[in-house]
Amino acid sequence: MNTKVSLAVHKFSSCDGCQLALLNMGSALVELAERVEIKHFAEAGVLNEEAQVDIALVEGSVVTKADEQRIRQVRQNSQYLITMGACATSGGIQALKNLAAEPEGWIEQIYPQPEFIDSLDRSSAIKAYVDVDLELWGCPINSKQITAVITQLLSGVVPWDDREKLCIECKRQGHVCTLITQAEPCMGPVTRNGCGALCPEFGRACYGCYGEAALANNSGLGKRFDGLGLLPLQIKQRFSLIHPDPSAVEPVDKQRRRGKA
Ligand code: SF4
Ligand code: SF4
Repeated sequence: MNTKVSLAVHKFSSCDGCQLALLNMGSALVELAERVEIKHFAEAGVLNEEAQVDIALVEGSVVTKADEQRIRQVRQNSQYLITMGACATSGGIQALKNLAAEPEGWIEQIYPQPEFIDSLDRSSAIKAYVDVDLELWGCPINSKQITAVITQLLSGVVPWDDREKLCIECKRQGHVCTLITQAEPCMGPVTRNGCGALCPEFGRACYGCYGEAALANNSGLGKRFDGLGLLPLQIKQRFSLIHPDPSAVEPVDKQRRRGKA
């Protein structure tokens, strides 16, 4: 009898970067494949989208009616559903269209034949449609996050949702603070850890792609940015990178009741 934990990787609207992070696990992926049965992972050439699995990893946001139907089916077919990456957790780059007053205008500017584009008015996080058991933030996520979560699940441990602030990791690694030394509007004080302080390591300010940390003092950081000379609109734009659109993660059924979707 096969007692391996089964796993599927599903793609929705996205750039495939998080799936590539999985493939980039290298030898860890080979070890993982020995411990789990990969039932569906199109990027790796394994196809069985309808398979019932113990763990589903979902990349991408919901932007079409077909996406909506498919994610509901994926939820039904999965015991434990993990979203991975900014698109799946907050709508991603695609959610920029949620901010447009007239999204149709964007479509016409981008596509020569907009009549062939059949998308929903909004790009939404997966949790706007179905229950999600764990979110892995990042744009893209990294191999360490996936390895840690799968290892914990295989060990029967509830995965730890690391929402510690990025500054903690940045200080641990001894990076020079861009906020203090360069007066850069770094989002590290309110961004969750997970990337290992990648941007500050290279002297760049964090822009918050790993999402909001626990107990984030947003107003305090906003005041700090004000002190750096940022205009209110610039501060708002800086924070909108960490939360592209709060309604992107509001359950769609609730949005519909309010006439927003
Ligand atoms: S560079 Fe950014 S993340 Fe690092 S300590 Fe300074 S504010 Fe925090
Ligand atoms: S430092 Fe910030 S912007 Fe850069 S990868 Fe990490 S969370 Fe994302």
